[in-house]
Amino acid sequence: MVEDNYRHKGLRKRLVEELRDMEITNSEVLAAIGAIPRHAFMDTAFLNFAYTNKAFPIAAGQTISQPYTVAMQSHLIDCQPKDKVLEIGTGSGYQTAVLCQLGYKVFSVERQKELFTKAKKVLKQLQYEAYLVYGDGYKGLEGYGPYSGIVVTCGAPELPKMLLKQLKIGGKLVVPIGASEDVQVMKRYTRVADNEYVEEDFGHFKFVPMLPHRNRS
Ligand code: SAH
Repeated sequence: MVEDNYRHKGLRKRLVEELRDMEITNSEVLAAIGAIPRHAFMDTAFLNFAYTNKAFPIAAGQTISQPYTVAMQSHLIDCQPKDKVLEIGTGSGYQTAVLCQLGYKVFSVERQKELFTKAKKVLKQLQYEAYLVYGDGYKGLEGYGPYSGIVVTCGAPELPKMLLKQLKIGGKLVVPIGASEDVQVMKRYTRVADNEYVEEDFGHFKFVPMLPHRNRS
């Protein structure tokens, strides 16, 4: 059982207010963040930090994304309940939970076995039903798509073109892209026709790098 006491709830409320002050106005996204016990996705040593607007180390040298970034990406895919959404980089599973809470049918790929296993466990405990896959998300997840939204939660050195093809018409790919590991530009590609995409930029962010192939763990 995950304990979610009045202190956690109070801190979470404050985090939601902080995000609102940072101009996250999407009320569904704010409600999802307000509902999910983020501390359940973090190691106990960091429990007290779970409701600060910061990224934090999880296992395998990775990080749980900053709540602001999670809110932004969840907002930018602009999907409706029941839509199919694919996440690349399950990590802690927190963003996965936010997408489930928004009512999407969620698929998520993680290349590190340790994280895949941990996320699966915590999402099950919290009764979120996402389809989790251990594998290389660079190629997306064919066979389950097309998706209304694809969100990449690691920094891609260049646009993963195979993901574009897995969008339905009108679908949106939100992906941080940058050659440097220090900073990426949040890009959104909307598939407007079979071979036509509209590209938009949403400023600078910092993500752990997207790596091809899986670790042999
Ligand atoms: N959404 C996560 C963010 C975790 S950090 C969260 O909120 O916790 C990004 C994750 O992307 C890491 O877990 C990393 O292992 C994973 N990743 C990196 N390259 C990948 C790839 N090619 N395919 C799938 N996952 C990848």
